[in-house]
Parts: sequence; C-alpha cells; structure tokens
Amino acid sequence: MIEWSEEDLMIRDAVRGWIDTEVRPNLDALESGDLPPYDLIRRLYKTFGMDEMARSSFHARLARAHGGTPGEAAPDGESADGGRPGGGNAAMTLLPVIEMCRVAPGLVSAMGVSLGLAAGTIMKRGTAAQKRRWALDLLTLDKVGAWAITEPNSGSDAFGGMQATARKAGEEYVLNGGKTFITNGPYADTIVFYCKLDDGGDPREREILTFVLDRGMPGLEQTKPFRKMGLHSSPTGELYLTDVRAGADRLLAAGAGGGKESARQNFVTERAGVAAMALGVIEECLKLSVEYAKTRELWGQRIGDFQLIQLKLAKMEVARLNVQNLVFRHIEMQRAGRAPTLAEASAMKLYSAQAASEVAQEAVQLFGGNGYMSEYRVEQLARDAKSFQIYAGTDEIQVTHIARDLLSR
Ligand SMILES: Cc1cc2nc3c(=O)[nH]c(=O)nc-3n(C[C@H](O)[C@H](O)[C@H](O)COP(=O)(O)OP(=O)(O)OC[C@H]3O[C@@H](n4cnc5c(N)ncnc54)[C@H](O)[C@@H]3O)c2cc1C
Repeated sequence: MIEWSEEDLMIRDAVRGWIDTEVRPNLDALESGDLPPYDLIRRLYKTFGMDEMARSSFHARLARAHGGTPGEAAPDGESADGGRPGGGNAAMTLLPVIEMCRVAPGLVSAMGVSLGLAAGTIMKRGTAAQKRRWALDLLTLDKVGAWAITEPNSGSDAFGGMQATARKAGEEYVLNGGKTFITNGPYADTIVFYCKLDDGGDPREREILTFVLDRGMPGLEQTKPFRKMGLHSSPTGELYLTDVRAGADRLLAAGAGGGKESARQNFVTERAGVAAMALGVIEECLKLSVEYAKTRELWGQRIGDFQLIQLKLAKMEVARLNVQNLVFRHIEMQRAGRAPTLAEASAMKLYSAQAASEVAQEAVQLFGGNGYMSEYRVEQLARDAKSFQIYAGTDEIQVTHIARDLLSR
C-alpha cells in the first residue's frame, strides 16, 4: 500500500467534514473540560452507522466463539477486531483516528481506551455472559469504559510494583487499592481493574487478576478529572477501592500466559494505534505551517523563503512520510492476518510519538508568538502530542522492549 484508495479518501473527506462542523466549534469547551467528549464521539458513531456495525459485528463474533443462540448471528460474519466497527476495513478504523487527531487527539484516547482496551479485554477474555453484560454497551458507546493498571507506585513497573489486591472471601473477592492516571476514570460506567491475588506469597510474583467493575459499586470511588498539560478532551482521574466486594462472575479468565500476558497483548494494539494518532497531529501541523509560511511576511518576503523555515517544513514532511509508511505497513500486516510483535509495536510507537512531538514543537516555533497563542491551535497539538511519549509505556520503556528483543536473537 503506497496511498489511500479512492474509497478511503471518500471516507476521510466525509469524516473530515463532520469533524469540521461538529468538533471544531466545540474545541474550546472540550479544552476547558466543560464538555466531556462522550456525546460527540457517540454522535460520530451514529452519523456513520458505526454503532449498528459494532452491534452486528458483536453478535457475529459471539455466535462464532460461543455457538450463539438463534438470532444472535449477524449476516456479515465474524470480524477479528473484537467487535469494533469497520474491523475488516482499515480505512474505517484508522481514518477517523487520524482525522480526529488533527483536531483533538484526546477524543481518540477517550474512545480508544473504552473500545480497544476496556471492551477489547472483555471480548478477549470474557465468557459469553460477561461479553453480553458489559462489552456490547461499550462497543456501541452506550457506556464508557476505563482500563486500570497504573498505580501511584507502579507505572512503568506495572505488574511487579502493583499493590492493589484481591482477597478471597468465600465465593467472593474483596478488592482494595488505588489507581491513577486512568483515562475515562471520572466518567466510566464499566472498569476493567487489574490487581494481585492476596495469597501470602512474594508480592512481586503474585498472580494478576482482572475484574470488571460497575460505577456505583459500594467502596468504589471515581475522582473528578485531573488538571493536566494537554489532552484535555480525554478526562483522566483516580480510582479508590475500599473493600469492594466482587463475585466470581466479575473475574475475567486469565487467558493464555496469564493476566500479565493478556495485558501485554493490549500494549501491542495500543502502541500500534499511536502511530495513526501521531500521523494526524503531524499532518495538521504541516498543513498549518505551510499555510503560515506562505502568508506571513517579514523583511518584504514570505517566511517560507527563509532556508531555516524551509528546513523545518522539509523535516516535517520527512516525518509525515515515515509515520504514514508505518501506518500503511500496519494496515498491510492486518490484511495479511499478521499482528506486530511487542518489539515492532514499541518501535512504531517510539518513532511516531517522538516525531509528532518534535513536529508540533517546531510548528509552534515557526508560528513565532502566534504559535504560543491558543488561537493558532499548534500549541494545543504540541501539548497533546507530548502525552504520546508517556502513556502506553514511556519512550524509555519502548527502548527497553526493542532492545530486549534485539539482544535475545
Ligand atoms: C494522559 C495519560 C493517560 C493515561 N491513561 C492510562 C489508563 O487509561 N490506564 C492506565 O492504567 N494507565 C494510564 N496512564 C498511565 C501511563 O501508562 C503511565 O504514566 C506510564 O506508564 C508511566 O508510568 P509513571 O507515570 O508511573 O512513570 P514512572 O514509571 O515513574 O517513570 C518515571 C521515569 O522513569 C523512566 N523509567 C522507568 N523505568 C525505566 C527503565 N527501566 N529504564 C529507563 N527509564 C525508566 C520513565 O520512562 C520515566 O521517564 C496514563 C498516563 C497519561 C499521562
């Protein structure tokens, strides 16, 4: 794949038009946190029929995996996408991501965590009853999901340092602990919660368990959103659990390789997805920078005539081409039925996150004082892009995963 197809471009233009009329006018409210992102994302889903696609994809997948019941199987067959709409069509999944990231990357984080991580985990590891109970409403965006691993004392060392516990009490488990930096935490209806079985063994080696929790369960507190540097259209908060009682019906199967391994599979999806997000930021910064370089005049000439400005534009274009190629390669791999390894996904994320961050910072510089002002939007993209280097594993953690793979060969 070297270019988007004609059909892809038609989808892109339709989504772009929708974002121009529905998202851009709401950017200030999203940025201030006055407008939570969920109704906008739901409208996107309804406008493009993605909620219904998600519903039929879900029923088809359920029927395939669990035998189903009459009426459950949808006519369009199973998709390998966890029930998300457009799973067979990369354009339907990636182009909205790229287009939204040109304007408000936080919308994609909020949506990606709910669909890809919360619903994705339940679809991979849940029983048919658990999928029906929680995943369908997440996949159609009727409900909001969160995926909670990080704790105040265990970020990069997510599993080793994890302190949240599950203690067996008869037929139930009693959950305790705190989670932080949780995307959608303040608004989530459904929370995929990771903790360690309190079995008296070495705390670092204890088994990882994954529970599905509902908003409002006694002992579960969801804080209000944090104030943060950027990504304001994605609410981030803390969770506190004090003696939350969860039945075994809320426990997800460990999956092959245990709870740690299945969480790692999510890292692959999440990290590969960051490349598409980065491409949106880079495309928008480049477009705005070229326009500005052609119109801003100093010393009687447009700034685009200065070679130092040309160097900035040329480097942005190189980044755009490289990240786009990574996205296209990912699409080709999907079509060939091949998933990236953890090291490949880490390499994609490391490069794309740094590229988006650098391009957005250089766009601010190219705009001069205007670049530092919110009105010109590149400052928002620069703040938002920085988050790509931190969540889903920091740059430094991507380096360790790439190097470990190289050195193990
Ligand atoms: C906007 C946002 C949204 C998020 N959403 C979620 C979410 O929905 N769910 C969730 O569970 N988590 C979420 N996170 C948490 C995120 O995954 C962590 O912040 C991240 O993994 C880093 O952990 P930490 O913040 O504890 O940093 P630390 O682990 O304390 O790292 C501090 C510094 O040490 C470096 N470092 C750590 N280990 C090594 C090493 N071995 N070698 C070299 N350097 C190292 C790090 O790279 C970093 O520079 C989110 C974070 C942000 C910012």
